[in-house]
Amino acid sequence: MSLKARAQEKVERAGISNYSFDQDVLVMCGVRYTIKACTCGEPECDGVQLLKSASAMGTLLQ
Ligand SMILES: [Zn+2]
Repeated sequence: MSLKARAQEKVERAGISNYSFDQDVLVMCGVRYTIKACTCGEPECDGVQLLKSASAMGTLLQ
């Protein structure tokens, strides 16, 4: 399963349906999250991390 598919699963499991993908970036409520593989090795880990990325909004909305 691709990282993107795992991220999608994670978000849907959290009950969030209002999201979209911009290339490989997950966008929720206008916030962009970089999708990263998680290597913590925890048994309950879904293997994916969502990192809030520094938004470009500030520069876009000036
Ligand atoms: Zn992990």
